[in-house]
Amino acid sequence: MAGNRESSSGTVAGENCTPRARGGRDGWRQMTSDGRHLVGVDVGGTKILALVVTGAGEVVARHKAATQSGAPMAEQIATAIDGALADAGLSVDDIAGIGVAMPGSVDSATGYLVTVPNLEVDDLRLVDTLRARYPVPVEVGNDVNLGTLAECWLGAGQNAHTVVGMFVGTGIGGGVVIDGRLRTGPEDLGGEIGHMVLMVDGPECGCGNLGCFEALASRTAMERDIRAAIEGGRESSVAHYAGDDERIKSGALADALDDGDEVVTEVMTRAAHYLAQGMLTIRHLLDPDMIILGGGVAEACGDFLLPKIEAEVRADRMKGSRDTMRVALSELADDAVALGAAALVDATITDRPVYEMGAARAAAVEEEAESVDYPAIDGVAFGSVTIGGESLEHDIHIRADGSVRKRKKKWARRDYGTSHVLGPRELKRALKGDPELLIIGVGFDRMVRLADEGAEMLRERGVRWKMLPTPNAARAWNEAEGPKALVLHVTC
Ligand SMILES: [Zn+2]
Repeated sequence: MAGNRESSSGTVAGENCTPRARGGRDGWRQMTSDGRHLVGVDVGGTKILALVVTGAGEVVARHKAATQSGAPMAEQIATAIDGALADAGLSVDDIAGIGVAMPGSVDSATGYLVTVPNLEVDDLRLVDTLRARYPVPVEVGNDVNLGTLAECWLGAGQNAHTVVGMFVGTGIGGGVVIDGRLRTGPEDLGGEIGHMVLMVDGPECGCGNLGCFEALASRTAMERDIRAAIEGGRESSVAHYAGDDERIKSGALADALDDGDEVVTEVMTRAAHYLAQGMLTIRHLLDPDMIILGGGVAEACGDFLLPKIEAEVRADRMKGSRDTMRVALSELADDAVALGAAALVDATITDRPVYEMGAARAAAVEEEAESVDYPAIDGVAFGSVTIGGESLEHDIHIRADGSVRKRKKKWARRDYGTSHVLGPRELKRALKGDPELLIIGVGFDRMVRLADEGAEMLRERGVRWKMLPTPNAARAWNEAEGPKALVLHVTC
């Protein structure tokens, strides 16, 4: 399970928010879900990320530091925890518990580390040191398992009860949540889906066995097959995109796919086939509500992989009583594992399934949506929009949380060859935070239109929308009630 994650984008170190008012203290259940905060720590090969979160999953402070190879690990983790608490203006008395995610296998009964393949750890029993230092429950778990748990709490798997996470990176990591609880098994070998044998006597895996899933469909396997094709005389643009990197990273694979590179398209089409077959095996074993595809490769190339995988899973010849299993991309990116660590300690304290944590989250989101301060538009002119006295000379999105963002036209250009069409890839971003109303300013000359599949997506998600000439859209925005979002085209 270790080493399967690749971080996609940086987060701001020491980012600081004001903590919300804290609630009552009667009973553990109340403390974590309604009142006190949780700390989640993600220990990786290059960085240690500590988050302070509310019981509803809202991040109130984030502390990030580089991992010091060889230095005492418990000390480094404590420094990150203390840093995040200081950023939040909280003390250890204000938190209900601490969860720590490690990139290795963990004895879930004791919290002791068993193996940590890609990280130098001086003390496999570091949980004891942390428990001695902090007067609250401290739990340690495997990072990929916890990434899956977090997706069930706050991401793609919300409300689903049985979920399998499949994280494709250097290897293939997995996590299994059954009826809202992480299932690791008596030997903590459960969820090692990367080592399901998918091809008997197939290529050798890093674990020593033959034909494992990750020996067929991980980024490492893709890279092996691409290199073999190039050595066999095929041409590929992937070397150009990989640049000076020793490895062919996920971003280079995505660029080569965008380019229509034949070798990469071929290899990744085959990998999608293997991923789908792995999912079918999981489906027939566990019948989960959902399989979540994450990790560096899925984050970079999900748009390519997912439709192929979905089609193959739907074509399953062995029929169930219904056809309800969903396949979805992960949603939480860089914070996922630290959030999952917080969920782990909550689950230990409250003994409740993760979908109940999710229900607390949904209630909090609803409450917050009612209290969002949406920025008003002061005015629009051809080529610009003025918000809060600031003139912006580009198209904008305003999301349901009230944040103003520059509209990225690349999605529209890539999919439709023009920035005048709104399709699902752009709308997915505009709809973050689940608005009930989307206002679309179609330009001064009404050039912008909604793609059919964009309209379908809005319908599926239950979002009402209004398409108005840009000046009217600005007025409608100021008058509309939230939760709402805006896409505004400021030229033709
Ligand atoms: Zn293996």
